[in-house]
Amino acid sequence: MENDMKVQRFDSLPLDATYFTDEGYLVDHPIVTSVGIFVYHNPDGSERRELRLPEEVFAEKSLASYKGKPIIVTHDAGYVDTDNVKEEGIGTILSEGYRDGDDVRAEIIIHDTDSLRKYKMRELSCGYNLRLDETPGVWEGQPYDAIQRDIEINHLALVDKARAGEQARLNIDGQGRNCMKGEKLNMENTTKRTDGAPTPEELAKAMGVDEAAFAETMKTWNGYVAAKNDPDFGRTSFAKALDTAPYYAIKVTAGVHHTMGGLKINANTEVLKADGSVIPGLFAAGEVTGGVHGANRLGGNAVADFTVFGRIAGAAASKYAA
Ligand SMILES: Cc1cc2nc3c(=O)[nH]c(=O)nc-3n(C[C@H](O)[C@H](O)[C@H](O)COP(=O)(O)OP(=O)(O)OC[C@H]3O[C@@H](n4cnc5c(N)ncnc54)[C@H](O)[C@@H]3O)c2cc1C
Repeated sequence: MENDMKVQRFDSLPLDATYFTDEGYLVDHPIVTSVGIFVYHNPDGSERRELRLPEEVFAEKSLASYKGKPIIVTHDAGYVDTDNVKEEGIGTILSEGYRDGDDVRAEIIIHDTDSLRKYKMRELSCGYNLRLDETPGVWEGQPYDAIQRDIEINHLALVDKARAGEQARLNIDGQGRNCMKGEKLNMENTTKRTDGAPTPEELAKAMGVDEAAFAETMKTWNGYVAAKNDPDFGRTSFAKALDTAPYYAIKVTAGVHHTMGGLKINANTEVLKADGSVIPGLFAAGEVTGGVHGANRLGGNAVADFTVFGRIAGAAASKYAA
Protein backbone atom coordinates (compact mmCIF):
# COMPACT_ATOMS: atom_id res chain seq x y z
CA MET A 1 0.00 0.00 0.00
CA GLU A 2 2.82 2.28 -0.94
CA ASN A 3 0.44 4.78 -2.51
CA ASP A 4 -1.95 4.97 0.41
CA MET A 5 -2.29 7.77 2.90
CA LYS A 6 -4.74 8.33 5.72
CA VAL A 7 -6.93 11.39 5.28
CA GLN A 8 -10.26 12.77 6.34
CA ARG A 9 -12.89 14.36 4.11
CA PHE A 10 -15.80 16.68 4.90
CA ASP A 11 -18.45 16.68 2.22
CA SER A 12 -21.62 18.78 2.33
CA LEU A 13 -24.94 18.24 0.59
CA PRO A 14 -28.33 20.00 0.65
CA LEU A 15 -30.71 18.92 3.41
CA ASP A 16 -34.28 18.52 2.17
CA ALA A 17 -37.48 16.48 2.50
CA THR A 18 -37.67 17.28 6.18
CA TYR A 19 -40.46 16.77 8.66
CA PHE A 20 -40.88 17.51 12.32
CA THR A 21 -41.99 15.15 15.09
CA ASP A 22 -44.60 16.14 17.66
CA GLU A 23 -41.73 17.10 19.94
CA GLY A 24 -40.39 19.43 17.31
CA TYR A 25 -37.41 17.30 16.33
CA LEU A 26 -36.39 17.29 12.71
CA VAL A 27 -36.28 13.87 11.02
CA ASP A 28 -34.88 13.39 7.57
CA HIS A 29 -33.47 10.76 5.25
CA PRO A 30 -31.12 12.91 3.21
CA ILE A 31 -28.57 11.86 0.70
CA VAL A 32 -25.30 11.98 2.55
CA THR A 33 -22.89 10.91 -0.13
CA SER A 34 -22.59 9.44 -3.61
CA VAL A 35 -20.36 7.36 -5.83
CA GLY A 36 -18.38 8.94 -8.64
CA ILE A 37 -15.36 11.12 -9.18
CA PHE A 38 -15.36 14.12 -6.89
CA VAL A 39 -13.31 17.08 -7.99
CA TYR A 40 -11.35 19.01 -5.39
CA HIS A 41 -9.55 22.29 -5.92
CA ASN A 42 -6.40 22.73 -3.92
CA PRO A 43 -5.54 26.19 -2.57
CA ASP A 44 -3.05 26.66 -5.39
CA GLY A 45 -5.86 26.17 -7.90
CA SER A 46 -4.75 22.74 -9.03
CA GLU A 47 -7.45 20.14 -9.50
CA ARG A 48 -7.62 16.87 -7.70
CA ARG A 49 -10.03 14.10 -8.74
CA GLU A 50 -10.83 11.40 -6.22
CA LEU A 51 -12.83 8.32 -7.12
CA ARG A 52 -15.53 6.97 -4.83
CA LEU A 53 -16.23 3.46 -6.05
CA PRO A 54 -19.56 1.74 -5.36
CA GLU A 55 -17.76 -1.13 -3.60
CA GLU A 56 -16.17 1.40 -1.22
CA VAL A 57 -19.16 3.73 -0.75
CA PHE A 58 -21.61 0.83 -0.27
CA ALA A 59 -19.22 -1.42 1.64
CA GLU A 60 -21.02 -3.03 4.58
CA LYS A 61 -18.53 -1.66 7.06
CA SER A 62 -18.72 1.84 5.65
CA LEU A 63 -22.54 1.91 5.66
CA ALA A 64 -22.59 0.54 9.21
CA SER A 65 -20.34 3.37 10.36
CA TYR A 66 -23.08 6.00 9.93
CA LYS A 67 -25.29 4.70 12.73
CA GLY A 68 -25.13 6.56 16.04
CA LYS A 69 -22.69 9.20 14.88
CA PRO A 70 -23.28 12.77 16.07
CA ILE A 71 -24.62 15.71 14.12
CA ILE A 72 -22.92 18.96 14.99
CA VAL A 73 -23.05 22.61 14.00
CA THR A 74 -19.95 24.04 12.48
CA HIS A 75 -18.66 26.01 9.55
CA ASP A 76 -15.45 24.13 9.61
CA ALA A 77 -16.08 20.63 10.80
CA GLY A 78 -13.26 18.84 12.52
CA TYR A 79 -12.85 15.36 13.93
CA VAL A 80 -15.58 14.69 16.50
CA ASP A 81 -15.22 12.59 19.60
CA THR A 82 -16.05 12.85 23.28
CA ASP A 83 -13.82 15.90 23.61
CA ASN A 84 -16.00 18.17 21.50
CA VAL A 85 -19.33 16.46 20.81
CA LYS A 86 -21.00 17.87 23.92
CA GLU A 87 -20.40 21.45 22.87
CA GLU A 88 -21.86 21.20 19.40
CA GLY A 89 -24.00 18.05 19.30
CA ILE A 90 -27.48 18.81 17.97
CA GLY A 91 -28.63 15.39 16.77
CA THR A 92 -27.78 11.85 15.78
CA ILE A 93 -27.62 9.64 12.73
CA LEU A 94 -30.26 7.04 13.54
CA SER A 95 -29.66 4.44 10.88
CA GLU A 96 -26.85 2.81 9.01
CA GLY A 97 -26.30 4.30 5.60
CA TYR A 98 -28.39 2.67 2.89
CA ARG A 99 -28.05 2.62 -0.85
CA ASP A 100 -30.38 4.65 -3.05
CA GLY A 101 -29.18 4.26 -6.61
CA ASP A 102 -25.75 5.82 -6.71
CA ASP A 103 -26.31 7.63 -3.41
CA VAL A 104 -26.19 6.81 0.26
CA ARG A 105 -28.97 8.00 2.49
CA ALA A 106 -29.33 7.76 6.24
CA GLU A 107 -32.06 8.54 8.71
CA ILE A 108 -31.14 11.43 10.92
CA ILE A 109 -32.75 13.29 13.79
CA ILE A 110 -31.91 16.83 14.83
CA HIS A 111 -33.05 17.60 18.36
CA ASP A 112 -31.77 21.16 18.55
CA THR A 113 -33.84 22.62 15.74
CA ASP A 114 -33.23 26.11 17.12
CA SER A 115 -29.81 25.78 15.53
CA LEU A 116 -31.44 25.43 12.12
CA ARG A 117 -33.37 28.65 12.63
CA LYS A 118 -30.57 30.47 14.36
CA TYR A 119 -27.81 29.70 11.91
CA LYS A 120 -30.11 29.19 8.88
CA MET A 121 -28.00 26.21 7.88
CA ARG A 122 -29.45 24.00 5.18
CA GLU A 123 -26.52 21.87 4.16
CA LEU A 124 -25.54 18.61 5.70
CA SER A 125 -21.84 18.04 5.87
CA CYS A 126 -20.43 14.57 6.06
CA GLY A 127 -17.11 14.09 7.84
CA TYR A 128 -15.27 10.82 7.38
CA ASN A 129 -11.94 9.15 7.57
CA LEU A 130 -10.60 7.23 4.64
CA ARG A 131 -7.53 5.62 3.21
CA LEU A 132 -6.43 7.42 0.08
CA ASP A 133 -5.12 5.05 -2.56
CA GLU A 134 -2.97 7.31 -4.71
CA THR A 135 -3.19 5.10 -7.77
CA PRO A 136 -4.51 7.11 -10.71
CA GLY A 137 -6.68 5.59 -13.42
CA VAL A 138 -9.77 5.95 -15.57
CA TRP A 139 -13.32 5.21 -14.40
CA GLU A 140 -16.27 5.24 -16.80
CA GLY A 141 -14.11 7.13 -19.28
CA GLN A 142 -13.06 9.77 -16.76
CA PRO A 143 -9.57 10.12 -15.31
CA TYR A 144 -8.97 10.22 -11.57
CA ASP A 145 -5.94 10.84 -9.37
CA ALA A 146 -6.71 8.67 -6.37
CA ILE A 147 -9.30 6.30 -4.90
CA GLN A 148 -11.05 6.82 -1.58
CA ARG A 149 -10.99 3.52 0.33
CA ASP A 150 -12.10 2.26 3.76
CA ILE A 151 -14.50 5.17 4.19
CA GLU A 152 -15.59 5.48 7.81
CA ILE A 153 -18.09 8.11 8.94
CA ASN A 154 -17.13 10.29 11.90
CA HIS A 155 -20.01 12.81 11.99
CA LEU A 156 -22.47 14.89 10.06
CA ALA A 157 -22.41 18.65 10.41
CA LEU A 158 -24.87 21.37 9.53
CA VAL A 159 -22.99 24.00 7.62
CA ASP A 160 -23.86 27.40 6.28
CA LYS A 161 -25.64 27.29 2.96
CA ALA A 162 -24.13 30.53 1.76
CA ARG A 163 -20.63 29.32 2.39
CA ALA A 164 -21.31 26.12 0.52
CA GLY A 165 -22.76 27.86 -2.52
CA GLU A 166 -26.03 27.88 -4.45
CA GLN A 167 -28.83 25.65 -3.27
CA ALA A 168 -29.25 24.56 -6.86
CA ARG A 169 -25.98 22.74 -6.80
CA LEU A 170 -24.58 19.94 -4.84
CA ASN A 171 -21.71 21.72 -3.17
CA ILE A 172 -19.14 19.72 -1.38
CA ASP A 173 -16.34 21.06 0.70
CA GLY A 174 -13.39 18.85 1.31
CA GLN A 175 -10.71 19.29 3.90
CA GLY A 176 -7.85 17.00 4.61
CA ARG A 177 -6.76 15.93 8.06
CA ASN A 178 -3.65 14.21 9.30
CA CYS A 179 -1.57 13.73 6.19
CA MET A 180 -3.35 16.62 4.44
CA LYS A 181 -2.38 18.78 7.44
CA GLY A 182 -5.30 21.16 7.33
CA GLU A 183 -5.08 21.96 3.65
CA LYS A 184 -8.30 23.57 2.54
CA LEU A 185 -9.90 21.96 -0.48
CA ASN A 186 -13.07 22.89 -2.33
CA MET A 187 -15.08 20.14 -3.88
CA GLU A 188 -17.64 20.42 -6.63
CA ASN A 189 -20.17 18.13 -8.17
CA THR A 190 -22.46 20.00 -10.52
CA THR A 191 -24.61 17.14 -11.77
CA LYS A 192 -27.20 16.97 -8.97
CA ARG A 193 -30.02 19.33 -8.13
CA THR A 194 -32.40 19.23 -5.18
CA ASP A 195 -34.42 22.39 -5.79
CA GLY A 196 -36.10 21.33 -9.02
CA ALA A 197 -34.70 21.59 -12.51
CA PRO A 198 -35.28 24.62 -14.76
CA THR A 199 -35.72 22.54 -17.92
CA PRO A 200 -36.69 18.95 -18.83
CA GLU A 201 -33.13 18.48 -20.11
CA GLU A 202 -31.71 19.45 -16.71
CA LEU A 203 -34.09 17.06 -14.99
CA ALA A 204 -33.07 14.28 -17.37
CA LYS A 205 -29.45 15.01 -16.56
CA ALA A 206 -30.14 14.74 -12.83
CA MET A 207 -31.99 11.46 -13.38
CA GLY A 208 -29.22 10.08 -15.55
CA VAL A 209 -31.42 9.48 -18.60
CA ASP A 210 -31.07 10.58 -22.21
CA GLU A 211 -31.72 14.34 -22.20
CA ALA A 212 -33.01 14.74 -25.75
CA ALA A 213 -35.28 11.69 -25.55
CA PHE A 214 -36.71 12.79 -22.21
CA ALA A 215 -37.34 16.34 -23.43
CA GLU A 216 -39.06 14.95 -26.54
CA THR A 217 -41.23 12.67 -24.39
CA MET A 218 -42.28 15.62 -22.23
CA LYS A 219 -43.10 17.64 -25.34
CA THR A 220 -45.15 14.80 -26.75
CA TRP A 221 -47.04 14.38 -23.49
CA ASN A 222 -47.82 18.09 -23.25
CA GLY A 223 -49.09 17.97 -26.84
CA TYR A 224 -51.44 15.11 -25.93
CA VAL A 225 -52.69 17.05 -22.90
CA ALA A 226 -53.42 20.07 -25.11
CA ALA A 227 -55.19 17.90 -27.69
CA LYS A 228 -56.94 15.79 -25.03
CA ASN A 229 -55.91 12.80 -27.08
CA ASP A 230 -53.26 10.18 -26.35
CA PRO A 231 -52.73 8.08 -29.47
CA ASP A 232 -49.83 6.18 -27.82
CA PHE A 233 -51.59 4.69 -24.80
CA GLY A 234 -55.22 5.73 -25.25
CA ARG A 235 -55.34 7.65 -22.02
CA THR A 236 -58.64 9.47 -21.65
CA SER A 237 -58.10 11.51 -18.48
CA PHE A 238 -55.57 14.31 -18.60
CA ALA A 239 -54.01 16.19 -15.74
CA LYS A 240 -52.21 19.50 -16.14
CA ALA A 241 -49.52 19.96 -18.76
CA LEU A 242 -46.02 19.45 -17.39
CA ASP A 243 -44.57 22.58 -18.92
CA THR A 244 -43.71 24.84 -16.01
CA ALA A 245 -40.41 24.84 -14.13
CA PRO A 246 -39.18 23.86 -11.65
CA TYR A 247 -39.33 20.18 -12.58
CA TYR A 248 -38.98 17.41 -10.02
CA ALA A 249 -38.61 13.66 -10.32
CA ILE A 250 -39.42 10.87 -7.90
CA LYS A 251 -38.91 7.15 -8.17
CA VAL A 252 -42.16 5.24 -8.58
CA THR A 253 -42.48 1.50 -8.44
CA ALA A 254 -45.32 -1.02 -8.52
CA GLY A 255 -46.38 -2.97 -5.45
CA VAL A 256 -48.84 -5.80 -4.75
CA HIS A 257 -51.90 -4.41 -3.02
CA HIS A 258 -53.89 -7.60 -2.50
CA THR A 259 -53.72 -11.09 -3.95
CA MET A 260 -57.12 -12.44 -4.94
CA GLY A 261 -58.16 -16.04 -4.44
CA GLY A 262 -56.59 -18.54 -2.12
CA LEU A 263 -57.53 -21.33 0.24
CA LYS A 264 -61.22 -22.05 0.71
CA ILE A 265 -62.36 -22.07 4.34
CA ASN A 266 -65.61 -22.63 6.20
CA ALA A 267 -67.07 -20.35 8.88
CA ASN A 268 -64.83 -22.05 11.44
CA THR A 269 -61.75 -21.15 9.28
CA GLU A 270 -61.05 -24.83 8.59
CA VAL A 271 -59.37 -25.26 5.19
CA LEU A 272 -61.46 -27.27 2.75
CA LYS A 273 -60.43 -29.74 0.09
CA ALA A 274 -61.73 -29.39 -3.46
CA ASP A 275 -64.57 -31.78 -2.60
CA GLY A 276 -65.63 -29.50 0.28
CA SER A 277 -64.45 -31.81 3.08
CA VAL A 278 -62.39 -30.42 5.95
CA ILE A 279 -58.63 -30.89 6.23
CA PRO A 280 -58.37 -31.67 9.95
CA GLY A 281 -56.11 -29.35 11.91
CA LEU A 282 -55.50 -26.85 9.11
CA PHE A 283 -56.93 -23.36 9.67
CA ALA A 284 -56.48 -20.22 7.59
CA ALA A 285 -57.48 -16.56 7.62
CA GLY A 286 -56.71 -13.34 5.80
CA GLU A 287 -55.18 -12.80 2.41
CA VAL A 288 -54.11 -16.42 2.06
CA THR A 289 -57.79 -17.34 1.79
CA GLY A 290 -60.17 -16.71 -1.07
CA GLY A 291 -63.93 -16.52 -1.45
CA VAL A 292 -64.65 -14.74 1.83
CA HIS A 293 -65.52 -11.59 -0.10
CA GLY A 294 -67.13 -13.45 -3.01
CA ALA A 295 -65.52 -13.67 -6.44
CA ASN A 296 -63.44 -10.50 -5.97
CA ARG A 297 -62.61 -8.71 -2.76
CA LEU A 298 -64.17 -5.77 -1.01
CA GLY A 299 -61.59 -3.00 -1.05
CA GLY A 300 -60.72 -1.82 2.44
CA ASN A 301 -62.07 -4.97 4.10
CA ALA A 302 -58.90 -7.04 4.19
CA VAL A 303 -58.11 -5.78 7.66
CA ALA A 304 -61.57 -6.68 8.92
CA ASP A 305 -61.13 -10.04 7.19
CA PHE A 306 -57.92 -11.05 8.91
CA THR A 307 -59.01 -9.58 12.24
CA VAL A 308 -62.31 -11.46 12.37
CA PHE A 309 -61.22 -14.73 10.78
CA GLY A 310 -57.78 -14.62 12.36
CA ARG A 311 -59.36 -14.56 15.79
CA ILE A 312 -61.69 -17.43 14.89
CA ALA A 313 -58.75 -19.41 13.43
CA GLY A 314 -56.67 -18.88 16.55
CA ALA A 315 -59.45 -20.08 18.82
CA ALA A 316 -60.28 -23.01 16.57
CA ALA A 317 -56.65 -24.10 16.29
CA SER A 318 -56.23 -23.83 20.04
CA LYS A 319 -59.36 -25.90 20.62
CA TYR A 320 -58.20 -28.49 18.09
CA ALA A 321 -54.81 -28.82 19.77
CA ALA A 322 -56.28 -29.16 23.28
C1 LIG B 1 -50.11 -0.64 0.24
C2 LIG B 1 -51.25 -1.45 0.78
C3 LIG B 1 -52.36 -0.79 1.25
C4 LIG B 1 -53.42 -1.50 1.77
N1 LIG B 1 -54.47 -0.82 2.26
C5 LIG B 1 -55.49 -1.50 2.84
C6 LIG B 1 -56.59 -0.81 3.43
O1 LIG B 1 -56.64 0.42 3.46
N2 LIG B 1 -57.56 -1.54 4.00
C7 LIG B 1 -57.55 -2.89 4.00
O2 LIG B 1 -58.45 -3.51 4.54
N3 LIG B 1 -56.52 -3.59 3.41
C8 LIG B 1 -55.50 -2.92 2.85
N4 LIG B 1 -54.44 -3.60 2.27
C9 LIG B 1 -54.48 -5.05 2.25
C10 LIG B 1 -54.15 -5.62 3.62
O3 LIG B 1 -53.12 -4.85 4.23
C11 LIG B 1 -53.69 -7.07 3.51
O4 LIG B 1 -54.64 -7.81 2.77
C12 LIG B 1 -53.55 -7.67 4.87
O5 LIG B 1 -52.56 -6.97 5.61
C13 LIG B 1 -53.20 -9.14 4.80
O6 LIG B 1 -53.02 -9.59 6.12
P1 LIG B 1 -52.63 -11.09 6.38
O7 LIG B 1 -52.37 -11.19 7.85
O8 LIG B 1 -53.62 -12.00 5.79
O9 LIG B 1 -51.28 -11.33 5.54
P2 LIG B 1 -49.88 -10.58 5.69
O10 LIG B 1 -50.05 -9.26 6.32
O11 LIG B 1 -49.28 -10.67 4.34
O12 LIG B 1 -49.11 -11.48 6.72
C14 LIG B 1 -48.52 -12.69 6.34
C15 LIG B 1 -47.33 -12.88 7.23
O13 LIG B 1 -46.79 -14.18 7.05
C16 LIG B 1 -45.40 -14.07 7.01
N5 LIG B 1 -44.88 -15.24 6.29
C17 LIG B 1 -44.91 -15.48 4.99
N6 LIG B 1 -44.36 -16.66 4.73
C18 LIG B 1 -44.01 -17.20 5.91
C19 LIG B 1 -43.41 -18.43 6.31
N7 LIG B 1 -43.09 -19.35 5.42
N8 LIG B 1 -43.20 -18.63 7.61
C20 LIG B 1 -43.56 -17.70 8.54
N9 LIG B 1 -44.13 -16.53 8.21
C21 LIG B 1 -44.35 -16.29 6.91
C22 LIG B 1 -45.13 -12.78 6.31
O14 LIG B 1 -43.86 -12.29 6.61
C23 LIG B 1 -46.22 -11.89 6.91
O15 LIG B 1 -45.81 -11.27 8.09
C24 LIG B 1 -53.37 -2.91 1.77
C25 LIG B 1 -52.26 -3.57 1.29
C26 LIG B 1 -51.21 -2.84 0.79
C27 LIG B 1 -49.99 -3.57 0.29
